[in-house]
Amino acid sequence: MGLMDGKVAVVFGVANKRSIAWGITTALAEAGAKIALNFQNERMREGVEKLAEELAPKPFVQVCDATNTAEVKAYMAAIKEKYGHIDALVHCIASAKREELSGNYFNTSWEGYALAQHVSAYSLVELAREAAPLMEGREGAILTLTYYGSEKVVPNYNVMGVAKAALESSVRYLANDLGPKGIRINAISAGPIKTLSAMGVADFSALLNAIAEKAPLRRNVTQEDVGHTALFLLSEWARSITGQVLYVDSGYCIMGA
Ligand code: NAD
Repeated sequence: MGLMDGKVAVVFGVANKRSIAWGITTALAEAGAKIALNFQNERMREGVEKLAEELAPKPFVQVCDATNTAEVKAYMAAIKEKYGHIDALVHCIASAKREELSGNYFNTSWEGYALAQHVSAYSLVELAREAAPLMEGREGAILTLTYYGSEKVVPNYNVMGVAKAALESSVRYLANDLGPKGIRINAISAGPIKTLSAMGVADFSALLNAIAEKAPLRRNVTQEDVGHTALFLLSEWARSITGQVLYVDSGYCIMGA
C-alpha cells in the first residue's frame, strides 16, 4: 500500500528532469498517486509530455499558464471531468526578469515587480481558489515552494525574495480560509538546487557553496529530498499541519554566521 494510493495529485511546474516539481511528481507517483501535470506554453509541451511518458499510469497533461485565468479555469474543469476531485495540489512555479536577479534591489522596475508577484505569489491564490471546490471535504492538501531569500537578504535574489515573502504570507491567509473546508496548505523552503530557474540568479553557485560549507549537514539538498518531504506534507501523516513553512535546507537557516 502506498501513502497516496488512489489519490489524485495535480503538480504545476515541471519544466524538465531537474525541476523540483519533477522530484515531487516522482515521489507522489511512487507512493501510488494518479498524476496531472501542466505545461506553461506550447514551447514547453514536448518536454513535459516526454517526461509524462516515464510514469505509469501516464499522467493527464494540459496547457496552463498560471497567470491566465481562463486557462486555470479550463484546467480545473478538465480535472473535474477526468477525476472528479483533487487530493493534492503542488504549486512549484516562479518567474522574474533575469536582469533583476542581480545587482541592487532598488533598480527593480514596477513591471518586473508585478511580474514576479503575479507568477510567483498571486498564482498560488488563484490556483487555490479554483481548485478548492474539487478538494473540499477530502482532507486534501496544497503545497508551494519558497526560499530563504524571503526573510534574509540573499545577494541577487532581490525581487524574487520579496515575492516569496508574499507567497509565505499567502500560505498563512489561505490556511485560515481553507482550513474550515478541510484543506491544508504548507510551503517547503528548499535549499538551493541547480535548476533552470535557479540558474537565472546571478552567482547562484555561491549559494550552493555556502550550504556545503556552513549548513549543519555540510551538503546540498536534492530534488529527491524535497520530493520526500512534499510527499509527507501532502499525505495524511501531516493531517494536522497547515500554514507552515518547513525548511529542507540541510539546516542552514538555523545558523547565525
Ligand atoms: P524550474 O525552472 O524547473 O521550474 C519553474 C517552473 O515555473 C517551470 O516549470 C516554468 O514553466 C514554471 N512557470 C513559470 N512561469 C509560469 C507561468 N506563468 N505559468 C505556469 N508555469 C510557470 O525551477 P525550480 O527551481 O524547480 O523552481 C520551482 C519552484 O521552486 C519555484 O517556485 C522556485 O522559486 C522554488 N525554489 C527553487 C529553489 C532552487 O534553488 N532551485 C530553491 C527554493 C525554492
